[in-house]
Amino acid sequence: MAETITIKDVKTILTQPAGSRLIIVKILTSDDGLYGVGCATFTQRFRAVHTAIEQHLKPFLIGRDVDRIEEIWQMSMVNSYWRNGPVLNNAISGVDQALWDIKGKRAGMPVFQLLGGKCREAADTYAHASGRDKHEVVDSVRHYMGEGYRHIRIQMGGYGGQSDAIQKPEGAPDGAYYHPREYCRLMVEMIEHVRSEVGPEVELLHDIHERLRPIDAVQFAKDVEPFKLFFLEDALAPEDIEWFRNIREQCATPIAMGELFNHPREWTPLVQDRLIDFIRMHVSQMGGITPARNVAAFANMYNVRTAWHGPGDTSPVGHAANLHLDLWAPNFGIQEWCRFNELCYEIFPGLPEVRMGYLYPNDNPGLGIDIDEDLAAKHPCQDEVIQWTQTRAPDGSPMRP
Ligand code: MG
Repeated sequence: MAETITIKDVKTILTQPAGSRLIIVKILTSDDGLYGVGCATFTQRFRAVHTAIEQHLKPFLIGRDVDRIEEIWQMSMVNSYWRNGPVLNNAISGVDQALWDIKGKRAGMPVFQLLGGKCREAADTYAHASGRDKHEVVDSVRHYMGEGYRHIRIQMGGYGGQSDAIQKPEGAPDGAYYHPREYCRLMVEMIEHVRSEVGPEVELLHDIHERLRPIDAVQFAKDVEPFKLFFLEDALAPEDIEWFRNIREQCATPIAMGELFNHPREWTPLVQDRLIDFIRMHVSQMGGITPARNVAAFANMYNVRTAWHGPGDTSPVGHAANLHLDLWAPNFGIQEWCRFNELCYEIFPGLPEVRMGYLYPNDNPGLGIDIDEDLAAKHPCQDEVIQWTQTRAPDGSPMRP
């Protein structure tokens, strides 16, 4: 019998090569030179994840058999007793993805092979078009169409809702103000304009980012139905998921949901009751490849497609993990793609590339991505109080970002 390979050390690498603070776990093994990397990025609370890995998971993991991914995942989830929160889920994801990377390297196969092999050669992606007004959004959409993208998310004014109609009370504090009702009016107008300008072929997506009251979200989904979105994302907050049934009863706008989910009980009813069309978790936020694989297989039984969250605060390693799931999942829908800068490609050799809208893997064993630790260390994470999530309604009340 082959000798057991064990976890020798767990390193947590923090780096900020672009806007987001990234957390990468590197697991070193008893087999000299064999290691794996995983994404544990929770950019707004990165120091909490760092401590969870270094102070709690590392002592728990040293000496364990690297081959026992499932057992380690299950035991990591219950070892803290309290579970399914964003800090620990991300920490566990870093370990889980690194173990899949190691298993792939041991097998001499890319991770998509371990999952069951490819259903497709590349993952179709969507890009993020935006602008200050609806004319700039059209220009931005045309730019991405020119680069070959077939799917384009359209936003206006960041996540939207900034408006001259905002009349703050005297003495109102600073913050990122938006007007939910103005949001509805301006965004429906923008989506209508973009569709009329760019024609019916290009697939358009929109992210409400949970900015509306539930009944306004129902109205919004109805109002944009004629413009045939590919999907409408985060129409509701996780706290309001029962309202998805109201949207479903009113219109056939395809619905995507999930990036804020932590707990299986948040997504299982939505899939089972066929209330959403795309399941959209942040793979590190849900605990890594192991739970994401289960969710994809579960959603497939209900013909719900995957659309894993893919912003800049999913690290390049996390994007590589997304891609392996995308290549395998029979019910793959679309992959969000954030377009990394050159420095990220230097720090993370093997970072997948998009050509004509398709995200391609390399054929290296494991996740096919690495990290240059020396270069990463030259771009340390900056501590700051997060401003963009200090969102407020016109009267100054705190709102969801
Ligand atoms: Mg989103």
